[in-house]
Amino acid sequence: MTKTYQFLIGGEWRTSKESYEVCAPYDNALIATTYRAGKDDIQDAIVEAVEGFERMRALPTYARAALLSRISAGIVARSEEISRTLAAEAGKPLKAARVEVERSAFTFGIAAEEAKRIEGHYLPLDLMASSQGRFGIVRRFPIGPIAGIAPFNFPLNLVSHKVAPALAAGNSIIVKPASQTPLSALLLAEIAFEAGAPAGSINVIPCSAHLTGPLVTDERIKMLTFTGSPAVGWGLKTKAGKKKVTLELGGNAGVVVHSDANLEYAATRIVQGGFGYAGQTCISVQRVLVHRPVFEPFLELFLPQVKALKVGDPLEETTDVGPVIHVQEAQRIEEWVNNALTNGAQVLYGGGRKGNLVQPTVLTHTHPEMSVNCLEIFGPVVTVEAYDEFEEAVEQINHSAYGLQAGIFTNDIRAIFKAYETLEVGGLIVGDIPTYRIDHMPYGGVKDSGFGREGLKYAIEEMTEPRLMVINQM
Ligand code: NAP
Repeated sequence: MTKTYQFLIGGEWRTSKESYEVCAPYDNALIATTYRAGKDDIQDAIVEAVEGFERMRALPTYARAALLSRISAGIVARSEEISRTLAAEAGKPLKAARVEVERSAFTFGIAAEEAKRIEGHYLPLDLMASSQGRFGIVRRFPIGPIAGIAPFNFPLNLVSHKVAPALAAGNSIIVKPASQTPLSALLLAEIAFEAGAPAGSINVIPCSAHLTGPLVTDERIKMLTFTGSPAVGWGLKTKAGKKKVTLELGGNAGVVVHSDANLEYAATRIVQGGFGYAGQTCISVQRVLVHRPVFEPFLELFLPQVKALKVGDPLEETTDVGPVIHVQEAQRIEEWVNNALTNGAQVLYGGGRKGNLVQPTVLTHTHPEMSVNCLEIFGPVVTVEAYDEFEEAVEQINHSAYGLQAGIFTNDIRAIFKAYETLEVGGLIVGDIPTYRIDHMPYGGVKDSGFGREGLKYAIEEMTEPRLMVINQM
């Protein structure tokens, strides 16, 4: 008997006429049933979020922090249940699902702390004789009701990255989870509800993407925070009018392995960064650039580890690489690989596919303009190429429409700072893969990869407005 999930609007659990079965990407087994919010539910959610905002902004700091701590504790208390649900709905290997749940509890824990640090400043204004006797204070105020649209690939922690800073800052939020993965978000809603989140402060509405228009265009919603694909994200930004918008989008992250690097460590980390969650991470390693003198030694360390990855059922404890989210995605990935091969690329390992299980694949002799390099592959495929000069590798990384994070393995301090100054990315990770993220760091991209930053402190800044008060003492 599977569970039935209702959705949360204004502190009340709802059903609708449209029941919705959530099935596992791995074997299509029924995981649970929920309901999809309709047009009227979305309108109600906006009204409730406006009221929820009034309740949230009236909460004192200690109460907001305590609420966030209780949500964090609630996630920990139900971590195994959430991990299994998340693994099933997202096709994410259980060990990775457990890490995501742990991170989500951490995200709320940090939000509880950051809620106490939303500080302002004193501003001397007597800089001109005519302004004598005046000073100002600048405080940050919550922006208002927020709409958060989330993707399938981190269905709990990326929803947490919207909900936690929104509540920390004193806002309310309406979350639209991805259609494939509404359950983790609904479990989070249950936990927040039980933790005492005021009515309307968090509303979670699984719905079809084509009904989300009002969340983007309605002027009562003051901010849209979107995580997902670049085409959808930039499209929504053009419709958002006066609303503040942040976009956390995709990438084709590159990593440089220079000849002075610890090759063994780099190889192990690149396997994790390229194939973890079947490459369906926005900062998954896609392009590996290796200094020519160590190209062969690197491959000798790298390829056996790729071959050792266990592909299969995400609910098995030992699985490293599960399915990609839909069979159509697996077919697309296969097509891009085959196109690369037709145009001269070589397979060093992999290339196969069974249903939506894509074999970990390593290609070389690729060209920067091939889809496997210049677009976001979002699958377990990496390309490995040799370079001669470090600058050439940096140029290659920048030869991309995207710019989320990059990684470089080198100990050369001059090369590191040169890369830091010239790489067009939101974050440079030295001595590690671009896939590295801890949840309080500023996170986001440039170019097609996004607009604005997440990471609790930085998201709170996006979700608040500075307001000045001038005092005339004369
Ligand atoms: P997606 O197809 O863009 O969907 C993301 C969300 O947007 C889902 O909730 C989806 O709903 C909704 N959506 C789709 N079309 C919409 C529309 N026209 N109007 C309003 N909402 C719409 O992305 P995805 O396949 O779930 O996720 C993968 C992408 O997310 C990749 O590009 C990845 O790199 C990116 N990502 C970025 C970050 C980051 O922090 N930078 C993190 C994770 C993922 P439905 O599910 O109902 O279609």
